[in-house]
Amino acid sequence: MEVIETIDEMRRFSRAARREGRTIGFVPTLGALHDGHRALIRRSVSECDCTVVSIFLNPAQFDREEDLRTYPRTLERDCGICRGEGVDAVFGPSEKEMYRDGSMVMISIAHFADRLCGMSRPGHFRGVMLVVAKLFNIVEPDVAYFGEKDIQQLIIVKRMVQDLNFPVQIRAVPLVRDKDGLALSSRNARLSASERRTALKLSRTLGRIREMVEEAESRSPGTPLAVSEVLAEVAEDLVSDPGIELDYLAAVDMETLEDVRHVKKGTIFALAAYVGETRLIDNWIYR
Ligand code: AMP
Repeated sequence: MEVIETIDEMRRFSRAARREGRTIGFVPTLGALHDGHRALIRRSVSECDCTVVSIFLNPAQFDREEDLRTYPRTLERDCGICRGEGVDAVFGPSEKEMYRDGSMVMISIAHFADRLCGMSRPGHFRGVMLVVAKLFNIVEPDVAYFGEKDIQQLIIVKRMVQDLNFPVQIRAVPLVRDKDGLALSSRNARLSASERRTALKLSRTLGRIREMVEEAESRSPGTPLAVSEVLAEVAEDLVSDPGIELDYLAAVDMETLEDVRHVKKGTIFALAAYVGETRLIDNWIYR
């Protein structure tokens, strides 16, 4: 496995692979890899001839200095995981390499970025789109893998690729949970033992929503269940927990990210909350 730090070298690697007729799968990450990332890497390794993982803690997508400063950094361990999974190259550029002269260009997206996480993380999705666009131009992958854990990011990246005609296919990978149900996240490492127990309420809330939706569907198939009814049932429990500061709990359409009034296939139940100083997100998609 190669560990590549410069843009020129990354391009040489990708172009050599392409000349040999090999397809390139790409997994962009912020590092501190866990089994959620591993699921993306495994899909790429099994579906593409060659897999590139980027590990770049992109400052442009952090809206809070403190979050960036305390984000876990485990590059050596990450490289070990990648090597073990059969990754061909890790691209780990410095901040200077990626933003040598800063960036005057900004990519923004109407509508999708000003809801859910976009409401409380101003500029976050602009930072994501900028780095993903840059990485696509540097790595030139055939396929790129994104997790449904960050469902809004996935939807936004898909739309950016469509609107800007990037020659890359975006593939979605289902959300991976820990044994106790907590959605895997690099930020989980920051939770104390008691915060972690509190955080379980987030996935349990989504589990309860799932039960309600599935029960309603089997009881009276085709009769739409009101979202307000579902949210009213679970919201109080979240809001009243002193250890949880709920940012949002919403039901939105998978295609448009518009709020939905009645639960239907393709409805995403998404939430974000602070547990202590750590902001966590989770979702369940009714398919
Ligand atoms: P991050 O390093 O947090 O930016 O994540 C890199 C990629 O891994 C993104 O596409 C995430 O959606 C995906 N990812 C992170 N956590 C999970 C998870 N628990 N399940 C599935 N995908 C995940």
